[in-house]
Formats: sequence, C-alpha cells, structure tokens
Amino acid sequence: MFDFFVDFFGIIVTGIFVAYLVLLALLQGKKKELATAKTLVNMANMPVLRPIPIPTANQKTLLNKVLVWVFQVRRWRVEQAFIYKYKGKKYAIHAGFEFDGASIPKPLWGLLSPIGLLLVPGLIHDYGYRYNGIYSLDENNNPLWDETISTQSGWDELFKNIGNEVNKIPALNELAKLGLWLGGFKAWNAWRDTKQDRVPFKWTIDDEKQASHEPQNEPQQDASDDEVVEIKSTSEESVSNDLFVSGATKTTQINYENSNNQKVLGSRNLDNTDKQQVTYKMACGDCGEVYGAKTSEIHRRKCPVCQEGKPSVDW
Ligand SMILES: [Zn+2]
Repeated sequence: MFDFFVDFFGIIVTGIFVAYLVLLALLQGKKKELATAKTLVNMANMPVLRPIPIPTANQKTLLNKVLVWVFQVRRWRVEQAFIYKYKGKKYAIHAGFEFDGASIPKPLWGLLSPIGLLLVPGLIHDYGYRYNGIYSLDENNNPLWDETISTQSGWDELFKNIGNEVNKIPALNELAKLGLWLGGFKAWNAWRDTKQDRVPFKWTIDDEKQASHEPQNEPQQDASDDEVVEIKSTSEESVSNDLFVSGATKTTQINYENSNNQKVLGSRNLDNTDKQQVTYKMACGDCGEVYGAKTSEIHRRKCPVCQEGKPSVDW
C-alpha cells in the first residue's frame, strides 16, 4: 500500500516537474513577446486591495511562528467597492471585504493562484461562498442584495464564466472549477456553519473609519431589514489632503461611471469653500487615461484623449 502511494505520487510529481522544465526551456527567447501582449482589463477596472499584516512578530514561541509561517496566508482588504459587469449585471463587492482566496483549495494554489490569473473570479467567488449572495447595482448605481445564485455549484459556475471572460484560458478555468468541485465544499460548509450576516454596502473604506470616529452618527442599520442599503458618503470635515474620497451625491461616488464609460476615482479637495473648484480624479474605461474633472461635468464627461472631451483640470 505504502509502495503504491510512493509510486503514484512519484509519477505525478516527476511528470509535473518534467512539464515544468520543458515550459521553462520554451520560455527562453519568448520573454519579450510575452511581455508586450496588451491586457484586456485596464488598471482602472482592477480591484483596489490592501494586504493585511500577518501576525508573526509577537507570537509567543518559535513553534507558533513556524505554524504561522507555513499555514497563514496573506489576506487582502477591498479598499474601494469593486464592480464587475457580467451579462448585464453589475456585481459589487463592498469596501472592507476581506479576501484570502480560501474558496480555492490550497493544494491547488501552485497552478491556480487566487491572486494570479484567478484574482477577479476568485474575489467574486470568495464573496459568494461567504454570504451566499452578492450586491448588484441597479441602473442608478444603488446596491441591491442579489440572491439569484444560491448554491455552491452556482457560484462555481459563475467563477468559471468570469474566469473565461478575464483570462481567456478556458482549460485553466475548467481545471479550477474541477478543483472547486473536489475541494471547495470545505470552505463552503465552513461558511454555511458560521452563518455570516451580510454587511451593509460601503463604497470606500473611509465610510467605515468615519463611522467609528463619529459615534453620534445613526447606528448601523441591520441590513437584513431593508432591500435598498443607504449609501453613506464621506462628510466634508473628515477629508485629508492626500486621500481620494467620494462626494455627497450619486455621481461623485468613487466607482460611479457615467454613460461615456468615465469613472470617478474620488476627490481630495472637497473642503474647498468654492464648490465650483472641487475636482475629481477620473479614469477612462476605454483607454485608461487618468485625468481631472469638475463636479458639474462628471455625469456627461468625455475622455480628453479618446473621446475629444475637454482637457483635464487639476485634481
Ligand atoms: Zn479614453
């Protein structure tokens, strides 16, 4: 029996290693060609994630440190609500969601990294496994709780489909889905047991900071009572100079996108006493250009580079 396992794993490991060496040989001389291919997704549409520190330094014993070293994975916090459009639906991950890719079984991470090619589908999939639901934005960009998908296999299918859209390697996504079928139940069952309450939607992490600094604000509502979750906007007093934040209106929320595919990235001069001078950092969804626009222009702003819009203002 033991011999069988040694043979079995020996063949698999050797096979993978040989395949790796062959690919490594093919890689030489291809490096330039690989690096020059254009990406499908531009930077402005990528999720904004911040790594969460791993608690090694203050562990009591060396053994504890080793255990953290070997088993603890990096967790990431979503800093701005992440929107992904798929089949006419705008899926939305709230700011503050913590993600570790754990819905993808860990033994498969070498080939199927949740922070590599599978980042975007993995993020959405982790969210679905956690809450068995997800926010989607209506036509006015209001977040609504969406329970259209309510089964493990439903989330796995969405994972595969979004993967096909972003990385265009169907074999990879099929393999990942097979991995989920084999090992995803562990994460799925763990989350069903802990019964996570869904979290009120937040556009930016600042909404959260503000809530904890200002206890006189109305208490957090239990989101399960109402279908539409209020969008809280950052008040003007809490704005610091180098931080981009959402304004008070719908069209000035970070990630708001107008009909020309122009997206709001936030403002850092909301405290300007002359409201005409408040400007927002914007990004073009077509060419990726980043530029500045005045508040009143946002809803019909065109890109200065690819849509013959007005020139950029300071932001
Ligand atoms: Zn453009």
